[in-house]
Amino acid sequence: MVELSDKEQLRYSRHLMLKEVGLEGQLKLKAAHIVVVGAGGLGSPALLYLAAAGIGELTLLDDDKVELSNLQRQVLYKINHLGQDKVSAAGKVLSSLNNQIKINTVSAKLSADNAQQMFSDATLVVDCSDNFSTRYVVNKQCLALGIPLVSGAAIASEGQLMCFDFRQPQSPCYGCLFGKQPQQQTLNCSNAGVLSPLLGVIGSMQALLAVNIVLGHHQGSQFIRFDGLTLAQQQFQLTKAPGCSECAAEID
Ligand SMILES: [Zn+2]
Repeated sequence: MVELSDKEQLRYSRHLMLKEVGLEGQLKLKAAHIVVVGAGGLGSPALLYLAAAGIGELTLLDDDKVELSNLQRQVLYKINHLGQDKVSAAGKVLSSLNNQIKINTVSAKLSADNAQQMFSDATLVVDCSDNFSTRYVVNKQCLALGIPLVSGAAIASEGQLMCFDFRQPQSPCYGCLFGKQPQQQTLNCSNAGVLSPLLGVIGSMQALLAVNIVLGHHQGSQFIRFDGLTLAQQQFQLTKAPGCSECAAEID
């Protein structure tokens, strides 16, 4: 049975005093396994908060190394990490933040070949990747396994946050929202730039949504658009798209 040690009770005391979390909720967080795809601008704040909040097992995947141009927004990394594998540097930082959780690091790119193995015992997946091919692989595998997907994106001054609740049989998917996978990558942070703290906002919202799903406070699928200049936010409920190429939705 999962329990909290005296040290954990002290560490998570500000959670334990909340009626929305309490001991029962903290034990749910401890029992959860969250896979975070991408340890960059979105993954940094998402991972820091998931580790701090006490998610019992975190798996992070990334195949990049830390570069100087990353430090403008990827707040997990410091100058002494330059040239290191991101997951190795991130693993050390996260372990030093919380040594009472299990952290698995995988220095690899997610593909259709390894996704099933990576996600097989995940409670949910947080997609912090920066390219369409990874996003469509993540979408398809979460759909196949019936586990919730929290996806984020930020380009220039616009942020997007999506939740697809594949525990529900009629859940829409990433393809329902964005259509067939584009053949070419259009814009990303490397060629379009991005406003640094916007990644903190969206990545933190991904962690918040993930924690709320684990606690049982959130279900269903939604899309949130966030304007990094005006701070305005629009929220949309999502429905399955007829003829979606990814989930083959059949609508009567
Ligand atoms: Zn779909």
